[in-house]
Amino acid sequence: MPIIYDITRTVRATTAVWPGDTPYHVEHVLKIADGASVNLTTISLSPHTGTHADAYYHYSADGEHPATMPLDAYDGRARVVTVSRRAGALAPSDIAHVNLKGATGVLIHSHVSDLSDEKWASDFPYLSVELIAWLAASGVWLIGLDSPSVDALTSKDLPCHHALRRHGMVNLELLQLRGVPDGEYELIALPLKLDAACGSPVRAILRPLDAG
Ligand SMILES: [Zn+2]
Repeated sequence: MPIIYDITRTVRATTAVWPGDTPYHVEHVLKIADGASVNLTTISLSPHTGTHADAYYHYSADGEHPATMPLDAYDGRARVVTVSRRAGALAPSDIAHVNLKGATGVLIHSHVSDLSDEKWASDFPYLSVELIAWLAASGVWLIGLDSPSVDALTSKDLPCHHALRRHGMVNLELLQLRGVPDGEYELIALPLKLDAACGSPVRAILRPLDAG
């Protein structure tokens, strides 16, 4: 059986969300235990709960919703890269040692993957406009982080989010890369076909492409 790494955080009522955002909530409409023929639930959540893809609408009034984000960007050849920087903006020099030839995605593995799903990262590394431009020039379409945002927690103008859209790139946030060796993988992390929303949960998986 081929190895699959599940790099998705579990969505539970206790899964940490952005300060002030809506936590995951499940309500029963029908219950087998109460004599119904099915269990029927209604769920509510922020699309940014756990591992997710931001839609351009999240930060641009005229941006695409998940249903019309470029689907092929979420299925490709991805490099997993461990970084030692624990906080602040990542520069091209943080990952310049990595051979990106053939990679359409880069997944950045930091200390945040060691935190439990319930724990919100107080310090986390995020992107820089320089790193995004450098990755775009290298042929990368997707950047994934285990951090909760591609910008600093306190950023209001969100330069990295906007740079992604400008370059036609997409992002994943809150990946869970614990135990995944650096290397080359096939990545599949498709957003749900949601209209009107600002992002979507994804089930993100990696399949190793080589042994090293
Ligand atoms: Zn997000």
